[in-house]
Amino acid sequence: MHSLQLRVTVTVFATTVVVVLGLMLVVNYQVSENFSSYLYMSGMHGMMMNHGNMAAMMGAPERQFLISLRYSLAVAAGVMLLIGAVVSYYLARSIAAPVIDLNRAVNDVAAGNLDVAVAVDRQDEVGQLAAAFNAMTAKLKANTVLRQRFLAGVAHELRTPLTILKANLEGIADGVIVPDQEQIKSLTEEVDRLTKMVGELRDLSLLETGQLTPDYTEIDLHATLRQVIQKSAPLAAEKNLALSLKIDDSLPRIWADAGMLQQMVYNLLLNAIRYTPAGSVTVTAKGDGTAVTIEVIDTGIGIAADDIEHIFDYFYRVDPARTKQSGGTGLGLALVKQMALAHGGQVYATSTPGQGSTFTLKLPLRARQKRIVSP
Ligand code: ADP
Repeated sequence: MHSLQLRVTVTVFATTVVVVLGLMLVVNYQVSENFSSYLYMSGMHGMMMNHGNMAAMMGAPERQFLISLRYSLAVAAGVMLLIGAVVSYYLARSIAAPVIDLNRAVNDVAAGNLDVAVAVDRQDEVGQLAAAFNAMTAKLKANTVLRQRFLAGVAHELRTPLTILKANLEGIADGVIVPDQEQIKSLTEEVDRLTKMVGELRDLSLLETGQLTPDYTEIDLHATLRQVIQKSAPLAAEKNLALSLKIDDSLPRIWADAGMLQQMVYNLLLNAIRYTPAGSVTVTAKGDGTAVTIEVIDTGIGIAADDIEHIFDYFYRVDPARTKQSGGTGLGLALVKQMALAHGGQVYATSTPGQGSTFTLKLPLRARQKRIVSP
């Protein structure tokens, strides 16, 4: 029996048959017994000798009564069995139908169609299973889209510098281009960009798979932030930006990976400087009993609401032309996000276009053992 519906129908109907037949046998037995007692009592004085032999005690009307009684019982049993058969069928259908739907949907997903969803119109376990299946398919689809976008991003990012390098090297080989210092510097920059991107991609994949975990040490946040600020100061000075650091006196010590912490703040700071034509960039840090919050606040170009939810994605750029000019790989914020998650923390941005952005990095004081992986 390979059909769930058939199996449930047969099981329920078989149970009904057993119950109805059992009931009939009991009723029949009881009626016979009681009728026999009745006949015995009513004919006691005349038929004492025949006690125990009901047939001998019965006249034609009694026999007719018993026959019609048994006939009625048989009709009742037939009607009950018929009702049982119909109820079994519909009960089986209501149990099996969602499972059959789910089965079909699972086969569709296995065949690569992720646009399937099953109807969730009940609250029981089957309904919960259907809802879980729908959530799983939606997540699978989102991950597939992300993977496709990621691969397209890698291909796109590699193609441009490789094309430039190839064209230049061919030109040099043909004698069309005479390599001077500037030429060599620009080619070296392309190679550096490629090397940086490959390194970032490697770190990202290791972070995502949990193979790169923070090496926790006790950090002096004052000193770390000051170092990052010093490192970025020349860039800010080049653009005449006021760069400042505001740290709470009561800032607690934090356990984190020193290198990752520096890189997270540096990436945020570099972006703030990069996307702020004029004004200021401020880094603040405060803490409570459980976490520290580092904010990088700029008065730059800001980010539109539609873009802000994507800026932590791989290779997402609000304005590809501007970022390419400034040498960004489009992976800086993705790295910050994965590093923050690896610490059990989080990073998010708020912004007003034309007025500036604030990037907030929240890290727990003590490392959590369990890593939270983002979608
Ligand atoms: P990139 O290397 O292109 O800077 P990121 O991942 O660091 O890549 O940033 C992704 C995008 O987010 C950038 O291309 C930019 O459009 C936007 N962005 C990041 N930081 C800021 C900021 N402080 N102000 C405005 N836009 C920003």
